[in-house]
This record gives sequence, structure tokens and C-alpha cells, in this order.
Amino acid sequence: GCGICVHKCPFNAITIVNLPEELEEGCVHRYGVNAFVLYRLPVVKDGMVVGILGPNGTGKTTAVKVLSGQIVPNLCGYNDSWDAVIKAFRGNELQNYFERLKKGEIRPVVKPQYVDLIPKAVKGRVRDLLKKADEAGRFEEVVKELELENVLDRDIRHLSGGELQRVAIAAAMLRDAHFYFFDEPSSYLDIRQRLRVARIIRKLADSGKAVLTVEHDLAILDYMSDIIHVVYGKPGAYGIFSQPKSTRNGINEFLRGYLRDENVRFRPYEVSFTKKSERKSQDGEILVEYPRLVKDYGGFRLEAEGGTLYVGEVIGIVGPNGIGKTTFVKMLAGVEKPTEGEVDWTLTVSYKPQYIKVDYEGTVFELLSKIDAGKLMNSFYKTELLNPLGIPDLYDKKLDELSGGELQRVAITACLIRDADLYLLDEPSAHLDVEQRLAVSKAIRSLMAKNEKTALIVEHDVMMVDYLSDRLIVFEGEPGRSGKALPPMGMREGMNRFLASVGITFRRDPETGRPRANKEGSVKDREQKERGEYYYVS
Ligand code: ADP
Ligand code: ADP
Ligand code: MG
Repeated sequence: GCGICVHKCPFNAITIVNLPEELEEGCVHRYGVNAFVLYRLPVVKDGMVVGILGPNGTGKTTAVKVLSGQIVPNLCGYNDSWDAVIKAFRGNELQNYFERLKKGEIRPVVKPQYVDLIPKAVKGRVRDLLKKADEAGRFEEVVKELELENVLDRDIRHLSGGELQRVAIAAAMLRDAHFYFFDEPSSYLDIRQRLRVARIIRKLADSGKAVLTVEHDLAILDYMSDIIHVVYGKPGAYGIFSQPKSTRNGINEFLRGYLRDENVRFRPYEVSFTKKSERKSQDGEILVEYPRLVKDYGGFRLEAEGGTLYVGEVIGIVGPNGIGKTTFVKMLAGVEKPTEGEVDWTLTVSYKPQYIKVDYEGTVFELLSKIDAGKLMNSFYKTELLNPLGIPDLYDKKLDELSGGELQRVAITACLIRDADLYLLDEPSAHLDVEQRLAVSKAIRSLMAKNEKTALIVEHDVMMVDYLSDRLIVFEGEPGRSGKALPPMGMREGMNRFLASVGITFRRDPETGRPRANKEGSVKDREQKERGEYYYVS
């Protein structure tokens, strides 16, 4: 048995497929007959950041609702009491936790996944909201660490996604609680902000608090977690928490699709973020030479140096938030007119904006058919794009009933099935889990190579940028004031330039080739900085 829960699951025979038999005993919660089932739970440990890694729809949020006392787990039976839960977890590390939770001794604080929804529930000025949350007397410190000084006097309704995310994290940090949960803290943040958030979450654990976090940016998850749980199963049907694992091992086992201690293969294939073919773009045919472009908004000025795009290449666009990446892409898409310079090409462009608006009433299938019905039947598009992104499962859904991640996948698909010479995708990873990020990256690379087209992708997830890009356009400057776009450059030069401005070094994991952030001030970090090699050190 799994040793966590002694209760049998009475519904077991009905729905569960491909499930190891021992799991009958690990049943924590079932939403109803034929509804989602959660097996086992993550550990909660004072002084530790416990990371959770797994696909969307496998019960991560459900587990947090149990641990924060929002759901009394029914143990897959008719249980509705904490006493039964405590009994079921006897001998388990969580027994004591549930005892304290029942007595009201544990105060949980949750930073929710969808920060966009916060302004609907909370009104007012950022300063007042954070002051009210400040039970720990750390207002000044937290505001400084999360760089919120400039938004304190704004109304919460007027914040950008990245600002809202940092305010939500600050509000959670300021509470005086025992158990803190951060659900996807990296969404909408740039790499430097992600690292700052990772550090402040670490500090919270170092001060003795128990921290749990769900994160899909693997470099960040790796950087902030002491241990991790892999969650696997069938999204929407059931989810199983693995044993706790060392962060490095856990991530590598997740990528491999095989959990060694459990002896479970949960995915028939390995997820690999190492490029199969490195393109030598400059040998190819030129798609277009774009001119120097300037956009002046009054408060903000972007100057983009001109450059050359080649046929068949994928270019990553990297840089901090508020530096003009979206503005640049909009000028190339013809959505925004440059103040200086002109985009007067005859190229056709397909563009996925950063923030996706739903203004279509029909179903996913109707929308995509309207763009190009033929592509939906085309076997290349089916195997390379539609199936890997799980689009056929969404065909009958209306657009306005899609979750954030579903809408993102549909918008990416809508962009990629359109015939064009140049594809522009602004932050495609938002709301996607790791496997979906890889599926999107792969689809973009294979479509560009096969169709001999060109793509520009704005992205903050370092692993994805690394996998996707043949070259990089690096943005530098002062966020919110002025930005400068450099011409496209090679990966090594571009990554070095970009990471130097962030002040972080990466190494490659020898087993999987994935990029790992070095701890600041570690031997590797100092050595690499001295040599000016922020990246690509094998
Ligand atoms: P994750 O956080 O891993 O994305 P969730 O815990 O949010 O997963 O959800 C897991 C599954 O449980 C999903 O299929 C979701 O639709 C389902 N689910 C969540 N809440 C409820 C509920 N109150 N009733 C029935 N099903 C639910
Ligand atoms: P990024 O995509 O790098 O985060 P953006 O291009 O979205 O940056 O924005 C760069 C700066 O330009 C920000 O300070 C933003 O507030 C400002 N900005 C963007 N669009 C407009 C606009 N239509 N009018 C005035 N300022 C704008
Ligand atoms: Mg942007």
C-alpha cells in the first residue's frame, strides 16, 4: 500500500483506468461519481519550499484547497469530518498538520492562480490594500523587494498583469500565517521579476514558514524549491501526487516520464528541451530587411535598430516588461504606426497578441474553420499542431467558456493555421503547463521549417526561448521610459547579453540538457560571470 490513507475508495471500480492497484488506498478526494479524483497529497514542511510540477487539470489546486481547509476531503467515501481525515493520515507526516488545521492553529494564505480576477473581488488603492494585509509589519520591505513603489497610489483596476501578480504576491507575503501557497507566481512576470519573486519566496521559507508552490517555468521552479512532488494522471479524470523528490531528480524524472522510486511510467515518451536541428539562419534566403523603427508614446520611447530576417528561422524576443517588445511586434504586424521609419513590405503577417480578447460567439471549430477549414483536415497539421495542442477536444466548446490555458492554445492555433510569410506570437506560454509549452515550441519550429516561413516569438520562459529560437532580438533600456531593440544576433551572444543585464547565470543539466539557474554567488555563478559566459556552458 501507499501508506498514506487507509480508506478504500468505494467508487473505484467504476471509472479509473490504467491505475496501479495500490492506489485504491491513497484516495483523498473525489468531486462526485465519475468526477475528478485526487490521490495522495504533497508534504507541508516548516522552513521549506515544496514545489509542485504537473499538467493542468491534475488536482494541484484541489490539493491546496484540502491543505488550506477549504475542502474537507471525503476520502472518496461519504466522509465529511476532519477527525476521519486525521485518522486516515495516522502515521503520516500530514497527521499532525491536519490536527492543527482542525484546531484552527494553522492559518493558510493562498496567492491564487488567476490574478486577472482579483480586481473583480477587491477594490481600492494598492497602498490601502497592502497596508490592510500587513500583519507582519513588513510593508516597506516587501514593497521594495517586489518593486511596487510606483504603483502604490494606483487603483487596483489599472494595473498590468505583471503588476497585479506582484501585488497579489505581496499581499500574501504580508499576512502572518503558517502555510503559504503560491499558485503560478511567475505568470506575466519577466525573468528578472521571476527571480526576485523566487528569492522572496525562498526567504519566507528561510524564516521558518511552510511554503507550497505550483510553477510551470522549470528554471524558476528549480531555483526556488527545496523538494518537489510530481503530479501525474489523466487531466480532468484523476491526479496522483508522487513521493517528495529532490528538486533536480524530480524535474528530470518528470521530463523522462518515469518515476524511479515508484517505478511508474506515466508518459510513454520523454519530454526533451534540446533542439534536434540547429539552423544556420544566415546561410538561408532573406525574407526581409526591416528598417530602424521608432515609437514615441510621450512617456515611453522605443528605438528598434533595423535587421534582417531569414526564411525558415525562429527568432526569440527577450527583455524586461515595459521595454517595448509588444510595441515592436505591433509595428511589424501593422497594428501600430511607427513615429519614425516605415513598415512598407508586402509580406503577409499573422499575429497572436499578448492579451487575448474574446469577441467571437461561436465554437472553437467554427472559429478555426473560418480561418482555414482545410488545415483542420490536413494530416501534417493534425500531427504537428492540432493533436499535440489538444485542440480537437475543444472543438465543440464556445470561446467564452474556455479556461485561460485553453484560450491560449486556441489563439496560437488560429495564428499558425493562417497562411502568412511572417508569424508573430506575443508570450505564447502564458497559462500553459510544461508539456503544452513544449508542444507549442515544437509545433512552431516544425511549421516554420516545413513551410519555409519565419516566426518572431516574445517569451520569458528561458527553457522555451532556448528550445525555440535560432537567433534572438534582445531589448535593453529602462522599463516604462525607454527601450532599445538590438538587431537579431546568435543564441550564445544574445543569451549572454540578455542574462548579463539580468545578472544571472545558467548551466546545463548534464542528463537532460535543460538550463538550470546557478544560485547567486555560488562558485559556478562567480566563475561564469568572470568569463562572461552567462549561458551555454556544458
Ligand atoms: P490543477 O490545479 O492541477 O489544474 P484542479 O485541482 O484545479 O487542477 O482541477 C482538477 C480537476 O478537478 C479538473 O478537471 C476540474 O475540472 C475538476 N474540479 C475542480 N473543482 C471541481 C468541483 N468543485 N467540482 C467538480 N470538479 C471539479
Ligand atoms: P513590453 O511588451 O516589453 O512589456 P510594451 O510594448 O507593452 O512593453 O510597453 C512599453 C511601454 O509603452 C510601457 O511603459 C507601456 O505602458 C507603454 N505603452 C504601450 N502602449 C501604449 C500606448 N498605446 N500609449 C501610451 N503608452 C503605451
Ligand atoms: Mg508585452
